[in-house]
Amino acid sequence: MSEVLVLVEHSAGEVKKVTLELLTAARRLGSPSAVVVGEPGSTAKLYESLAAHGAEKIYAAEGNGLDDVLITPQVEVLASLTTQTSPAAVLVAASVDGKEIAGRLAVKLDSGLLSEAVDIDADGVASRSLFGGTYDAKAKVTKGTPVITVLPGSIEVEQCIGAAGEHAVEMPSHDGATNARITGRQPAEAGDRPELTEASIVVSGGRGIGSAEQFEVVEKLADTLGAAVGASRAAVDSGYYPHQFQVGQTGKTVSPQLYIALGISGAIQHRAGMQTSKTIVAINKDPEAPIFDIADYGIVGDLFTVTPQLTDEITTRK
Ligand code: FAD
Repeated sequence: MSEVLVLVEHSAGEVKKVTLELLTAARRLGSPSAVVVGEPGSTAKLYESLAAHGAEKIYAAEGNGLDDVLITPQVEVLASLTTQTSPAAVLVAASVDGKEIAGRLAVKLDSGLLSEAVDIDADGVASRSLFGGTYDAKAKVTKGTPVITVLPGSIEVEQCIGAAGEHAVEMPSHDGATNARITGRQPAEAGDRPELTEASIVVSGGRGIGSAEQFEVVEKLADTLGAAVGASRAAVDSGYYPHQFQVGQTGKTVSPQLYIALGISGAIQHRAGMQTSKTIVAINKDPEAPIFDIADYGIVGDLFTVTPQLTDEITTRK
């Protein structure tokens, strides 16, 4: 069975959930091999989780200062492993870094690239959602080793014990990597809430929230559900919420199990970032708001009346 290379995303010694989703998808295509790139000593602590989610092999490439180098090392390691192992596909998270890594890798390999898949079948056919959810497209790479990025939250994680045989990979030279270096990191101030693109529930607020202070109604519901908080661009541009929480075409793409939109009209640019959510709930006082076209459950009403009731009801049922 051909290998399927899965680039591992990790932070603070933990494998990100999207990587576990990629391992699940990889099993449909062949034998999953996890590719971990990091500082010396940083990769071993990830093996247990990778093994528990079906990694048959783990390729570990470690090198000093790698955490401070932009994406080049990952591209070089994946390109070198692809040449050595001729995998059935390379799967990368459709995160900010992942999309750039996949693009560069596909150019380097002269391969076809499929971006932001929400599903992949055993024949390597990827499903994608286009034009704000207007079309569902299926596509397959016809040239070279398929490089596919997968939207975080799209695939349900399955546990499966893999052999997780470890192979140290020699770090290939990363040309140009020293031309740009990370000099500092400022974590997004999400408090104890989950990371927006990794969260299984997202509660977002739009211009209908009306002010930064009133965003508290969004945060309270989010905290009751253990959810991440998102915002529409209108809410961000109005200064109600920080821009790193913007969901949409020019913000983050989320695909949680549950997306709750409060006071968001549902413009196509917003839908582009959330339409693949499994269940969408919208609260809006305008019954004609386009968000209701894609909502599974819609409540027509004033969000300042409905949302606190919802928060209270969930709290009492806990
Ligand atoms: P509005 O469209 O103003 O909707 C507010 C809604 O709140 C209305 O439906 C109203 O009925 C409802 N409301 C008001 N008060 C209440 C209340 N008390 N109770 C219940 N409901 C209430 N937008 C994004 O979100 N993300 C993007 O990434 C993005 N990228 C863009 C990129 C480009 C190139 C362009 C041109 C636009 C982009 N936009 C993006 C903007 C997008 O077109 C919309 O303008 C924006 O999404 C609207 O945000 P909104 O729904 O919060 O505001």
